[in-house]
Amino acid sequence: MNTIRDILQQTESAKVIANHIDYADYVALDLSVTNTDLAGESLTAAKDYEHYIQRYLDNHQAQIAFGGYNETRNLYQRSAVFKNENTDERNIHIGLDLWINEAAPIYAALEGKIHSFQNNEALGDYGPTIILEHEIEGCKFHTLYGHLSLESLKDKKVGQPIAKGEQIAELGLPPVNGDYAPHLHFQIIIDMENKKGDYPGVCSSKTLAFYLQNCPDPNLLLKIK
Ligand SMILES: [Zn+2]
Repeated sequence: MNTIRDILQQTESAKVIANHIDYADYVALDLSVTNTDLAGESLTAAKDYEHYIQRYLDNHQAQIAFGGYNETRNLYQRSAVFKNENTDERNIHIGLDLWINEAAPIYAALEGKIHSFQNNEALGDYGPTIILEHEIEGCKFHTLYGHLSLESLKDKKVGQPIAKGEQIAELGLPPVNGDYAPHLHFQIIIDMENKKGDYPGVCSSKTLAFYLQNCPDPNLLLKIK
């Protein structure tokens, strides 16, 4: 039997944001602790990131910046969602981010149905979030779309069927999106572990092996070159 990774690899590529923008106009963005470019930047508020991303896009003549799977980042230190005295610090990103400074349309990566949705309102969290459930060749898995607009959750129903490429949402702007520069957090999740409307998008080094197994690289599906 094919593994989920094989299945994702064999699936036709899917655009999940602003489908009029060609992959040729995407640029990889490194937000990891080892990127020395970031050290000279004062990046704290959503606005700082917005300016940094826009400059980065302009410098690369690109329209969407993407990246972040299995990336260790500093940017979560401002939020108690990722660190408190009882837990290990979570700073390794396990989704893929797509950055564009506008309320771009968001599409379903695959045919499926709505698993759950919720507004995760804490600072630094996802804000409005939709999770879809998919089944291919008997393999069940999920796709998560985070940092959406509030309107994206209106008139949604659990179990509602969704077509591949159907617009399911639009990108949220700060502060409703968890107070980030606008970006879609896209993540593949095999086992939801009974969670609804939310699933960790950032983990600690201790739990990384589990999350890399349960959350395959989203680019297996998107196929951004
Ligand atoms: Zn993200």
